[in-house]
Amino acid sequence: MSALAAVKKGIEKLIDRYGRDIYYLRMSLTERCNLKCIYCRSESEYCKAKTELTADQYSTILNGLVSLGIRKVRVTGGEPLVRKDLERIISDIASHEEIREICMTTNGIGLSERLPELKQAGLQRLNISMDTLDPDLYRKMTRGGDLAAVLKGIEMAQSLEMPVKINAVVVRGKNDQEAERLISLAKESAIDIRFIELMPMGVLGEDKNARVRNEEILRRHPELRPLPPAYPSQPSMDYTADGFKGKVGFISPVSHKFCNVCNRVRLTSDGKLRMCLANNYETDLMPHLQSGEELLQVMQAAMFNKPECHTFEEAFHTSRTMNQIGG
Ligand code: SAM
Repeated sequence: MSALAAVKKGIEKLIDRYGRDIYYLRMSLTERCNLKCIYCRSESEYCKAKTELTADQYSTILNGLVSLGIRKVRVTGGEPLVRKDLERIISDIASHEEIREICMTTNGIGLSERLPELKQAGLQRLNISMDTLDPDLYRKMTRGGDLAAVLKGIEMAQSLEMPVKINAVVVRGKNDQEAERLISLAKESAIDIRFIELMPMGVLGEDKNARVRNEEILRRHPELRPLPPAYPSQPSMDYTADGFKGKVGFISPVSHKFCNVCNRVRLTSDGKLRMCLANNYETDLMPHLQSGEELLQVMQAAMFNKPECHTFEEAFHTSRTMNQIGG
């Protein structure tokens, strides 16, 4: 049966060949970023805006993906806030009543000014990357970022009652001492903090000594108690402690794989479907944008053939840096 026929018959889920229900799209809006985080890309690397999908092209692809079972969308990048048409893209996503959740991963620079409109357009949740609460260290780790601007964005999200998770990557010898302060943020406010283990991508990721395993942070915090997962495909292990208003989560893609429950597909800003962060298997959608049925077939085949597991622990060499895939 063709993909279109399957959709017409009301088959709304895409179950891949390993039995996973693929419903979560991570949609990268650009490779461009206003920061150069030390673990994401090199200082000299210039973010060339090669092909960058237009809002209409995202809309065409998303129409197809929704009919194939996508129910949750996260916009990411690069930095999604560098797109001037972000509000339009969010409202296009929100126009699909099938989509249950719309989130954004951002560095938060320039967020406060745009958040009221983004919320009105349909944005529901935020993940804000912030690896330290020390302004000088923040500037160093991001090669020039202004921590005050990020904090302003977080405050705005709180005033608009939009749920926020803080993403932090801990790098040995750089910000390992910051984990304590970030955890205390979850104690004092209803903000969840999630530690993401440094992945072997980018210049720093190749250096195994730079990775601080999440167990190390946990060992220093015996007060943290594990919580049951809120949903089966939850990538983080969440913890709480007495008196905490927020949760502390640990995402350990390298030391604790969650591939068996991975429900994600990634769309890069140059129009490729990438089925796994740590697998260079990609499908180019650009030649198929003009034909609805052909596009559906190509996307359905790519999703069905999602690789079983990532290959981080084998000598994985990414064809793209994190900002080029969409982290
Ligand atoms: N610009 C946005 C931001 O800063 O959140 C979205 C894109 S950024 C690539 C998405 C996430 O990827 C960030 O939370 C960042 O910390 C994470 N990231 C980038 N490189 C990483 C690496 N080598 N290992 C683990 N996480 C990484």
